[in-house]
Amino acid sequence: MDTVLLLTHSDGAGQAPVPALEALGAARRLAPSPIAAVFGASTGPAAATLGAAGAARVLVAEDPALDVPRYATDTAAAAALVKASGATVVIAPATSRMMRIAAGLASRLGGRIDTHVTAVDTEGGPAVTRWYYRQRIEARLRRNERPWFVLVDPGALTPAAPSGTAAPVERVPVALPGSRTEVRGERSPASGEQTIKPDARILFVAGAGWTKKQADGKPHADLAETLVRGFLKVSGASLGSSKSLVDQSGEGQKVFAFMSHLNQVGQTGATPRHPKGLATCCHGEEPHVVGWRFIRERRAVNLDPGCGWARGKADVLYVADAFAVMERVNALLAKG
Ligand SMILES: Cc1cc2nc3c(=O)[nH]c(=O)nc-3n(C[C@H](O)[C@H](O)[C@H](O)COP(=O)(O)OP(=O)(O)OC[C@H]3O[C@@H](n4cnc5c(N)ncnc54)[C@H](O)[C@@H]3O)c2cc1C
Repeated sequence: MDTVLLLTHSDGAGQAPVPALEALGAARRLAPSPIAAVFGASTGPAAATLGAAGAARVLVAEDPALDVPRYATDTAAAAALVKASGATVVIAPATSRMMRIAAGLASRLGGRIDTHVTAVDTEGGPAVTRWYYRQRIEARLRRNERPWFVLVDPGALTPAAPSGTAAPVERVPVALPGSRTEVRGERSPASGEQTIKPDARILFVAGAGWTKKQADGKPHADLAETLVRGFLKVSGASLGSSKSLVDQSGEGQKVFAFMSHLNQVGQTGATPRHPKGLATCCHGEEPHVVGWRFIRERRAVNLDPGCGWARGKADVLYVADAFAVMERVNALLAKG
């Protein structure tokens, strides 16, 4: 019989990140009341939430040094928590902070690890569904080695709902190693604006058409930037891009300052998970649309009725000028 642990860090406010509740939902498929463990500078709110969402007890490791993600300190805290729990199966959310330490942690504790897991179940023992080869091959597997670390992809599972009463909280002492790494601040890639939001309900994709010559024979990149930013602001959407648009920076053409290659969706980009997606000024070619495989409801705005979206890639294609459409959409959304 396995001992199941949900392992997570807290966020800056001491809360459990949403993907941690999704991972707890996965852990509860293996054990109705798993142990939870959380590390961070403060963990109180996270421990209360995880307890109320079904954890039998919550182990916490708190230290001011855990305020920032750092491999040496995070790994030491996580290892202490896993050891204290006696866990044989460790389920963790695939946040960037956990992704950074999880492989090293598994190695340190003599375990095995699987990433990109999208389903967890019992099948005569714990079994997971995971993706390989940039999400082209799906496999279902079990492992005999323990401890088994399982990183659950955010957005794939329903979060556990905090509806019960709080569980007992136990503090685990951790001897954090001295560190030569000092975090002095954060710098965002472009304008400091966070445009990639995995939790957003909508993915808004901008294609290269936004910077191309329009009906009057001229490009209107500044207006395009205003419209795209305006939509992101009023809708809270996550911003995706086609490869052509983000590649333009390398060719010295006008680019959106708030966009980088991290926004690229597709075969050589990301495969985000949002309930809905809206593509604008993007042709909908296969290498791009392959990144939409987890977007459940797809719409596109394109001047070209023969574009890729029209060929079964979108649920609805609006054959229209995206400049006009987004101006109107933004005005309507601004009115509330
Ligand atoms: C190996 C390989 C990997 C690739 N990987 C990726 C990938 O990961 N992601 C990716 O995106 N691409 C990828 N590509 C490139 C992909 O094939 C396309 O070239 C790219 O997606 C095209 O980008 P686009 O649709 O923005 O630009 P374009 O093809 O230039 O299309 C612009 C569109 O904007 C429309 N438009 C212009 N003005 C307006 C307007 N006012 N209103 C409405 N519509 C308008 C036009 O009708 C046109 O359809 C890859 C290609 C290869 C060969």
